[in-house]
Amino acid sequence: MPIYETVLHRNPGESEFHQAVHEVFQSLGAVADRHPELVDTGVIERLCEPERQIIFRVPWVDDSGKVQINRAFRVEYNSALGPYKGGLRFHPTVYLGIVKFLGFEQIFKNALTGMPIGGGKGGSDFDPKGKSDNEIMRFCQSFMTEMYRHLGEHTDVPAGDIGVGGREVGYMFGQYKRITNRYEAGVLTGKGLDYGGSMVRTEATGFGLVYFVREMLASRGLDLRGKTVSVSGSGNVAIHAALKAQELGATVVAASDSQGYVYDSAGLDIDLLTEIKFQRGERISVYADERTTATYHAAGNVWTLPVDIALPCATQNELDEESAKNLVSNGLVAVAEGANMPCTPGAIKVFNEAGILFGPGKAANAGGVATSALEMQQNASRDSWSFKRTDAKLDEIMTGIHEACARAAADFGSPGDYVTGANIAGFQRVARAMVAQGV
Ligand code: GLU
Repeated sequence: MPIYETVLHRNPGESEFHQAVHEVFQSLGAVADRHPELVDTGVIERLCEPERQIIFRVPWVDDSGKVQINRAFRVEYNSALGPYKGGLRFHPTVYLGIVKFLGFEQIFKNALTGMPIGGGKGGSDFDPKGKSDNEIMRFCQSFMTEMYRHLGEHTDVPAGDIGVGGREVGYMFGQYKRITNRYEAGVLTGKGLDYGGSMVRTEATGFGLVYFVREMLASRGLDLRGKTVSVSGSGNVAIHAALKAQELGATVVAASDSQGYVYDSAGLDIDLLTEIKFQRGERISVYADERTTATYHAAGNVWTLPVDIALPCATQNELDEESAKNLVSNGLVAVAEGANMPCTPGAIKVFNEAGILFGPGKAANAGGVATSALEMQQNASRDSWSFKRTDAKLDEIMTGIHEACARAAADFGSPGDYVTGANIAGFQRVARAMVAQGV
C-alpha cells in the first residue's frame, strides 16, 4: 500500500492530520528520487507514525463543586533531533487528529530551527474561556498530575499554544516541581521571567514571523516600509507580529478577534490594541469605539481587505481559496503563516499560481519554538540573557531558516517555493538523523 494510503487507513477521520501529511508528501518526491536510501530505510513511513501517543483523563472540580472530566493528549512524535518539543493547546476543538497534525508539523519546524529539539504536541479539549483563575489552576494541576511522568528536560518539554500562556505554564510548572521535588527549569518553556523564562519568548513567534517576511521581501528587492498589513487573531502571535511590522515601517490596517475585526486604512494604533486585548482583556470592537477613524465589522474576515501583506495568526484553515483570490485581486505581495496551517491547500494553490511570496507556518512561525530552545539552553547553563541578545539570536535563526528554505527550494528545482523548501530542508535533517540512529 502506498504510504499515504497507509496513513489514511491507520488514522481514520483525522482530516487535519491527513492534510498536513499530504502537503509534506507533495514536496518529498524529488528527495526520494535523489536519496533512495531514505526511502529504503522506511524513514517516510516511520515519520508518519508517532513514537508514542498518550491519551489521558483529566478530572477537576469546578467552582460550584461539580466534578468535570476532560480528555488530554500528548503525542511524542519524533526524537531523532532531541527531546520531544512542542506546545500544549487547550481548546474545545482539540482531538487526537489536531494534536497529530500539530505534532507532525512540529517535527519539520523544529528541524528547520537547527536546534537540538525533536517534535511533539499535546493539549486538551478543555475550554479556558469563561473559567475562573482557580478553575484554570485546578485543571492545570490535574493535567500535570498525569503528564509529569512522561516529561523531563531530556525527554519531553512542552510549552504553550492556543489557550496556554504564561499563567498555565506557571501552574503546570508548580505542580511538576511539587510532585517530583525537582527544580527542573528546562522541563517546560514559556515560563515567567522571574523563574527561568527567557526574554523575547512572548514576542518570539510574532517577531520571528516578521523577520521571515522581511527576508522573503528582500529576495525580491522589496522591504516592509510603506507596506500595508492585515493580521488575524488577537493572541500573542498576532499582536507581536503587528508591533514588529509597524516597527519595520509597515502600516497595520486590520486586526481581528474571534468575534469580528477592525479596519483603519490610515493604520491601527497597535499600542492601544495591545492595551485593549492584553491589559484590559476586552473585545477588539472596543478599539473602534475609542478610535473613530476605525470601523468594526462583526461579520466576515480581514481577508476581504486590500493589503500588501497578509499574516494569518489565528488558527488552522482560517484562510480559504476564496479569501486567497480576494487578496490576490486586491494586490497582495506576500503571506506568512503565524498560526499552524491557517491557509487551506486551495488558498496556497492560488498564492502559488499568482506568484505571491508564501511563507508556510513550519518555517515562518518557527521563532516561538526556536526561542523555547534558547530558553532550554539558558536553563541548562543556569543563565539568563538580555532582551537584545535573545532577539538578535532569534533574528539570526529566522534569517537562517529563510536561507535554508530558499536553498533547498532552488536545489530541488522550485526556486522561490518556500513550501517545498521548508518541507525538504526540514525532512533532510530529521531523515539523516533517523538513518544514522538505525531502525
Ligand atoms: N506552540 C508553538 C508552536 O506551534 C511553540 C512550541 C514550543 O515553544 O515548544 O511552535
